[in-house]
Amino acid sequence: MIVKTDNAQIQSYLVDAANYKGFCEAVYFPENENEVMELVRFAIREKKKITVAGNGTGLTGARVPEGGIVLATDKLNGIIELNEAEKYAVVQPGMLMSDFKKLTEEKKLFYPPDPTEQNCFLGATVATNASGAKTFKYGATRNFVLGLNVILPDGEKVVLERGRQFANGFNFTLKTESGKNINCKLPDYKMPETKHAAGYYCKENMDVIDLFIGSEGTLGIITQIKLKLLEKPGSLLSAVVFFEHENDALDFITEARNKSYETRKNMTELGLDAMGLEYFDKNSLDFLREDFSQIPSGYEAAVWFEQDCTTGEYESILEKWITLLRKHNANPDVSWIAESETDRKKFHEFRHAISSKVNEFINKNNLRKVGTDTAVPDKNFIDFYFYSKRLAMESGIKFVIYGHFGNSHLHLNLLPANDAQFRKAKFIYKQILNKAVELEGTISAEHGIGKLKREYLLEMFGEENIRKMARLKKCIDPYLILGIGNLFEEKYLLE
Ligand SMILES: Cc1cc2nc3c(=O)[nH]c(=O)nc-3n(C[C@H](O)[C@H](O)[C@H](O)COP(=O)(O)OP(=O)(O)OC[C@H]3O[C@@H](n4cnc5c(N)ncnc54)[C@H](O)[C@@H]3O)c2cc1C
Repeated sequence: MIVKTDNAQIQSYLVDAANYKGFCEAVYFPENENEVMELVRFAIREKKKITVAGNGTGLTGARVPEGGIVLATDKLNGIIELNEAEKYAVVQPGMLMSDFKKLTEEKKLFYPPDPTEQNCFLGATVATNASGAKTFKYGATRNFVLGLNVILPDGEKVVLERGRQFANGFNFTLKTESGKNINCKLPDYKMPETKHAAGYYCKENMDVIDLFIGSEGTLGIITQIKLKLLEKPGSLLSAVVFFEHENDALDFITEARNKSYETRKNMTELGLDAMGLEYFDKNSLDFLREDFSQIPSGYEAAVWFEQDCTTGEYESILEKWITLLRKHNANPDVSWIAESETDRKKFHEFRHAISSKVNEFINKNNLRKVGTDTAVPDKNFIDFYFYSKRLAMESGIKFVIYGHFGNSHLHLNLLPANDAQFRKAKFIYKQILNKAVELEGTISAEHGIGKLKREYLLEMFGEENIRKMARLKKCIDPYLILGIGNLFEEKYLLE
């Protein structure tokens, strides 16, 4: 197994896309499951903490070590099986999302989880339950995980298959490959019904596999993943439309969302059924214009939407979208409707550019990201949007708003120019998170908690529930070695 200790060689493992920085003794690169197990046993013997690293695009410091060793998954990057007939793939955790998408598309298959950043590893997308633009229709990564091999932090291996191992109420047993039974208790808190990625996924009688999805590298090391695939759609309608007035854009999204729900419920033929409804405010458009000069000026908002359909359905569905756009005063003359795969890719780049430009700005100014990842129930979203926007405007700090508005999921990024503004931005951020929780939403809908957001997880769930999460973690990680510092402070594990 390759081990790196040289400072220059391990720098990239000590930071993530949020510019959160850490330190460690060494980075290990196991090349198979046995080496992962050996490494865990070594860490137990030597009393060393392990942080699992994906590709470092996380935005919460979750992969950033604070001492101990890093287990890098880069060398576990193969595809084990791609079953076209039964539509599934078995992969190793270090496979790049973009490589996986290419492979599946070549076989006319479709993997909907679509984080805006495609430069991430599949294992990490499971560990964070990543989602993205298509989550509005297809749900998060969780919906596509059929099986997992996991090396537990006590050095044992479990093989989990969806639909096979369920909790009994809030109690569950992990049966390891060597025949050991680990009996643990799930916290009994209630999770919000919105898109949600904050804290352990826990429900009465749940499928045990779901506990590991979104556990942010704290409960086990994922070494193999079986993913469900769909048939590649015959056609993809994709458009970026511009609105002179923000209210029109928001009304358009609300109606498109409701129509999509209706289509799915009634299985309406040729109905509107968006895969994603992505919003960009005026500040985002201004921010993007230096890279995309074709963005028209004088528009307060834009929406990117996509719908998958058959080739035969395309024209009638497009007509329905145009009717809805006209109703909400979008300007079809300046809007972009994809006519080719190249256009569709450009729209993806456009969406990606706003997130990456924000991160670049933060890194250039050596600041930490102050960006919300909040979702609230649809019925509360418009109030929540204007509440958040008002706070940002009143602060005088530069900001951009974009996000997965189909899921009522808001990314409001404050871009503080100095330390004083950074402190003010943190204060506003907290007010917005509190509001999301008050409106029955979540403080994180997709990025997770990591180390950067644990104080807010504590506020959202309360100390008693954090203690329950810590007890669950201790049950699975009795030596307290894995992903320490993610989700909650270490002190809860020492009680
Ligand atoms: C520009 C930009 C846009 C983004 N857009 C989205 C988006 O639309 N949706 C979204 O959900 N996220 C988004 N993200 C966040 C990020 O891409 C995801 O969280 C992604 O899943 C992280 O993958 P990674 O390989 O970079 O993991 P890392 O950051 O390296 O690690 C993330 C977490 O996974 C754990 N982990 C990694 N591998 C394993 C494993 N094998 N077993 C157990 N734990 C493991 C780590 O310990 C850590 O806790 C975006 C990030 C950027 C920079």
